[in-house]
Amino acid sequence: MATQDFIERIQRRKAELGPRLLLLTHHYQRPEIVALGDERGDSYQLAELASRRAEAEFIVFCGVRFMAEAARVLAQPGQRVFHPVPTAGCPMADMAELPLVERAWAHLERSLPGKRVVPIVYMNSSAAAKDFCGRHGGAVCTSSNAGQALEWGLSQGDVLLFFPDQHLGRNTAARLGLPTTQVALWQRALPDGGLAPEDLQRARLLLWDGFCHVHTWFTPEQVDHARRQHPQGRVIVHPECDRAVLKKADGAGSTGYIVKAVREARPGDVLIIGTELNLVTRLAAEHPDRTVVPLSPSLCPNMYSITPRALAEELEALPGGRHEVFVDPQVGAGARLALERMLTLGG
Ligand code: SF4
Repeated sequence: MATQDFIERIQRRKAELGPRLLLLTHHYQRPEIVALGDERGDSYQLAELASRRAEAEFIVFCGVRFMAEAARVLAQPGQRVFHPVPTAGCPMADMAELPLVERAWAHLERSLPGKRVVPIVYMNSSAAAKDFCGRHGGAVCTSSNAGQALEWGLSQGDVLLFFPDQHLGRNTAARLGLPTTQVALWQRALPDGGLAPEDLQRARLLLWDGFCHVHTWFTPEQVDHARRQHPQGRVIVHPECDRAVLKKADGAGSTGYIVKAVREARPGDVLIIGTELNLVTRLAAEHPDRTVVPLSPSLCPNMYSITPRALAEELEALPGGRHEVFVDPQVGAGARLALERMLTLGG
């Protein structure tokens, strides 16, 4: 069956369900999926929307699993959340498995007596990791509000444990002016995180050693190459990129920031964007009067796995649905607390 047939099936089902359905699509989704969504956004915007749209009976989330889980946690009890491809996960979120986080936490409690450690977990994490954060006085953050979250955390305690994305943590700390001598990397596979006692005593920010392979694909050499190709261009990258890439870029920020930068550019401007390819391609198509090119093509296969066919089949299976998202209520309580703290911090 051709893509167009699935698109028509989705449109038909959307018309039948009307306001009972809220179809949320992340910016990294395929163009045809984004075009069908009721709302598009980054993970912060979509989490916020899921918490506000109490009238929708069914929330169908086109993104990766941790996003659908967060929508489930923030949705009203009577609402139901569906994820068309339950295997669409996020490798970075999987780098912070709960037993590893608990082991790190136990070590910090033993090694830093009298110090208050505050956990800050990136949105790109499991509900269990968010629950851990909520239960230990921490907060969730996204790439839009990581700065506010770090400042908040430092005002609440002596040391922050930031997980799972080391690059977002390191880049945000640099933006806030935290000295590099106070930032240490917790290597989850090594005993004691690979940190000597004196490194731990000195640290105010401990970074988990997770990363996103889509964004660590970008290199400083690619920035140099892009500048040779487009001497007038501005290079804008996502803070999940390596610090060396950010140092060479003209600007860095969340998905929302990147979308705004392109929207606010002038006709004729050249923008070289270091983030997920589907977003860059769509921004280029939406702004034909400016040149928008990828720093290098880097596609998230997990986001891409949500196909029009999977979405059509999910919608046609409602109200029962095929892949409803469930979060253990006990896990949901702590995760909700940490997510609500994130929403209070703002975006
Ligand atoms: S782009 Fe990176 S962080 Fe986002 S879902 Fe894909 S792998 Fe995870």
